[in-house]
Amino acid sequence: MKHIDVRDIFGDKSYIGREVTVCGWVRTSRDSKNVSFLEINDGTTLKHLQVVIDKEKIKDYDAAMKLGSSVKVIGVICENPNNGVEINANNIEVLGEAPADYPLQKKRHTLEFLRTMPHLRVRTNTFNAVFRVRSVLASAIHNYFQSRGYVYVNTPIITGSDAEGAGEVFRVTTQPFDHGCKTEEEYYANDFFGKKAGLSVSGQLEGEVAAMAFGKIYTFGPSFRAENSNTPRHLAEFWHIEPEVAFAELPDIIEIAEDMIKTIISDVLEKCPNELAFFDEHFEKGLIEKLKTIISHKFEILEYTKAVEILKNSGRQFNYPCDWGCDLQTEHERYITEEVFNKPVFVINYPKDIKAFYMKQNPDGKTVAATDLLVPGVGEIIGCSEREADYDKLISAMEKRGMKLDDYSDYLDLRKFGSVPHSGFGLGFERILMYITGMSNIRDITLFPRTVGSVR
Ligand code: ATP
Ligand code: MN
Repeated sequence: MKHIDVRDIFGDKSYIGREVTVCGWVRTSRDSKNVSFLEINDGTTLKHLQVVIDKEKIKDYDAAMKLGSSVKVIGVICENPNNGVEINANNIEVLGEAPADYPLQKKRHTLEFLRTMPHLRVRTNTFNAVFRVRSVLASAIHNYFQSRGYVYVNTPIITGSDAEGAGEVFRVTTQPFDHGCKTEEEYYANDFFGKKAGLSVSGQLEGEVAAMAFGKIYTFGPSFRAENSNTPRHLAEFWHIEPEVAFAELPDIIEIAEDMIKTIISDVLEKCPNELAFFDEHFEKGLIEKLKTIISHKFEILEYTKAVEILKNSGRQFNYPCDWGCDLQTEHERYITEEVFNKPVFVINYPKDIKAFYMKQNPDGKTVAATDLLVPGVGEIIGCSEREADYDKLISAMEKRGMKLDDYSDYLDLRKFGSVPHSGFGLGFERILMYITGMSNIRDITLFPRTVGSVR
């Protein structure tokens, strides 16, 4: 179907005076004495194109006046003092009529209402803006790593280990419900892989394998967590960006993480000005200013020990009081990043007992070279660490946790054969998208969100 994208028409004055064909869905319609007006949107831009219908010229266009109907319009592009351009229709063809029970009749619906119809909410301005930014952001992330010589690897989605104990694992099985097995062992022995398998919570362990050959790698794919966390920041299925860098220690990877976040934000500022202006107006006042400030200031680096002191001296009543050794809860993270520093903060050197086995043990014997990047409004967006490169220390950390060493023999081999200092991080794609758009619920930036008790 030959036609011109609405975004091209708004972007190119040479269309004025020409006859073109445009397609789209009707967003508004109104009738006056001699003319009727439609606003149509084809998804290529946030802007609607106004269609002017001369009643003398065009008859029988009732179905085109119905919100949600899809139309093909042939007409001449003219200048319009308000919108830039509009189209004077010579012909209107209704491609698909939407009846009066099309649910999106109001100009603005609540996000909660829209969540009940994921298949239709994408036709609103909010979701048009969200998914354009999401797409541009994905490209900016690939671009960041590609232009710096990182190798993009795809790590397995089905895994035989629970990676790092990062979260509860979804099981993968082909066994029938009534399997007739007496023990769990028997069950898995009869299963597809002959052992227990699940959906990966992280590609890190395989990412390390690739980094020990290609030097700098990143992954960008889905991770799965079966945690029972019904929060505005957790999905059961989310997208995860995990760079892994050889010959990098904690300060090096922190530098990379900060540079990456700033670069991808700059890209979105440049490529999505209209979408960001929309979020600034409707969802987070001052959003664009916030993003500009972030890219021009250094992030804070704060020792975990110092963070705990700040929390204890805050005079604040937290739901979970915090002492040295505790894991920081969202309320702590938000207090530090929002109220104390009001900017992104790398909290570094966490107690080793609350962090994963693979993190590099610091000489103090108590902490590991790990950091979380906390940002105002969202909390943690990156979990990061230097990895333990010493074979014996790694073994002892695993034994302490009662891990089965046999399951990790490939991983341990990396420490036997030319081990090097290396570091990496996991960035939650939806978390950084929330931060950039100002959208406060992860369900509203995901096409079909999967959360506890909800899959559609
Ligand atoms: P949180 O404390 O927020 O639950 P985590 O510490 O369990 O996260 P990591 O294992 O460090 O998460 O994962 C790395 C990153 O992946 C996190 O910093 C976050 O951005 C993202 N992430 C983790 N779990 C989820 C989830 N359930 N939904 C969306 N993003 C997630
Ligand atoms: Mn984390």
